[in-house]
Amino acid sequence: MAKYYQPEIETASREQILAWQNERLVKQVKHVWENVPYYRKKMEEKGVTPDDIKGVADLHKLPFLTKDDLREAYPYGLLGKLLSECVRIQSTSGTTGKRVVAFYTQHDVDLWEDCCARAIVAAGGTNEDVCQVSYGYGLFTGGPGLNGGSHKVGCLTLPMSSGNTDRQLQFMTDLGATIICCTPSYAAYLAESIHERSLQDQIKLKAGIFGAEAWSEEMRRDIEQKLNIKAYDIYGLTETSGPGVSFECEEQTGMHINEDHFIAEIIDPKTGEVLPEGEKGELVFTAITKEAFPLLRYRTRDICVLSRKPCSCGRTHVKMSKPMGRSDDMLIVKGVNVFPSQIETVLLEQGYPANYQIIVDRVNHSDTLEVMVEMTPENFSDTLGKITEMEKQLVAALKTMLGIYAKVKLVAPKTIARSEGKAVRIIDKRKI
Ligand SMILES: [Zn+2]
Repeated sequence: MAKYYQPEIETASREQILAWQNERLVKQVKHVWENVPYYRKKMEEKGVTPDDIKGVADLHKLPFLTKDDLREAYPYGLLGKLLSECVRIQSTSGTTGKRVVAFYTQHDVDLWEDCCARAIVAAGGTNEDVCQVSYGYGLFTGGPGLNGGSHKVGCLTLPMSSGNTDRQLQFMTDLGATIICCTPSYAAYLAESIHERSLQDQIKLKAGIFGAEAWSEEMRRDIEQKLNIKAYDIYGLTETSGPGVSFECEEQTGMHINEDHFIAEIIDPKTGEVLPEGEKGELVFTAITKEAFPLLRYRTRDICVLSRKPCSCGRTHVKMSKPMGRSDDMLIVKGVNVFPSQIETVLLEQGYPANYQIIVDRVNHSDTLEVMVEMTPENFSDTLGKITEMEKQLVAALKTMLGIYAKVKLVAPKTIARSEGKAVRIIDKRKI
C-alpha cells in the first residue's frame, strides 16, 4: 500500500523544503507585485519592494492580509491572473455581505487536488477504495476539493454531497464505501443513523476524513468507535484554496501542513509579531504556488501551535495543532461562519436593542444556535401569540443574514445581565 501520494515531496529533507520555499516565495512576491495592485499598494505603504524579499527569512517584512482586505477587494481586487486564465471560483458558505470569493486557474485546481490526494492517501486511501464524499458540493470547497483528490488517488468516487441520509446509507452499504469525507458532526449523525437501523454489519468503512468545523478528541473517539474506523482531521480555508492545506497522518497528533505550497507563521494576534516556534498564536499562511488568488501573509484568525517534532509517519512537513480558538469573535456554527456583528445588525434593523446573548451548544454532535433578545418597553408584549409572531419574524431575518437557522427567544426588558466591562455576548457551551 502506498504510504504517500507524493513521497519525494512529503518526506523531503528540511533543507529541500526550505529551498523550495525560498525560491517560490521570491517568485510569488514578484508575481503579486506585478499583478495585484491592491497588495502592491500595501507593500509600498510599508516601504517593501520585491528586492527586499530574498527568502523565508524576509517574510516578516511583508504586510498582512485579513478578511477585511478580502471584503474590500471583492470581487476582483486580489486577482493575480486574467479572468480568461481562471477556470473556477469557490466561495465561503452562508454569510451574506461577508462573502469571500476565491479564484483558480487549472494549475491551482490541480495543486489543490494534489493536497487533498495526500490527505486521502495518509488516511490509507488507494485505488482499491470507494470514497464517499459527503461534503457539500457547489461554492463550498469541501465537496469539490475531496472529490478531485479522490479522483487523483484513483478511488471509486461517490459524489454524494451532503444531506439525504437514507440515500447516503444506501450507497454506503450497496457500493461498499471504505472512506467517508464529511464534517465531523455529519459523521456522528451518520454513525447514529447506522446504529438506529442496525446496519453495522453492512458497513465497510475503514477511515473518515473530517473537517470544516472544530471537533474534540472525545468526539473523534466516539465516531471511531461507532463506525469502527480511524477518523482523520483535515484543515483548510476557502482563502487558501480549501481543504488540504494540512491533514492528519496515522499518528493523529496534529496536521502536516503542505509546506511546498504554504508557508506557515504563528504571530501574536495583538502585535502582529512573529512568535518563536512552539508558541501558541494566530496562524498566518503565505500561498507560494497559487496563481489566481495568491494571498501573502493571510491572517486566518485561528489560534494554534506548530510542531517540528519528527513524526513516525515519515513526513517531514511541519504539523499544526487543531485550532484552539479564534483571535476574533467569529463563531463557526454547522460549518458556517457567524459574526455577532451580523446578528446585531439584524436586531437593530428589526427595532430591537443591542441587548442580546448568543448561545451556541452542541446537542447530539450537532451545533445549535440560539439568540436571546430583550424586547424594548415599546414593543414589549406578554401575549404569547404576539411574542411567537415576533420571534418568527426575527428567525426569518436571521436566516436571511446568516444562512442557517437560529432559535430566537424574546425576553422582557432588562432581563439580560449587564456586565461592567465588555458585554458577554457569546456563550459557547461546546466542549472543543
Ligand atoms: Zn505524520
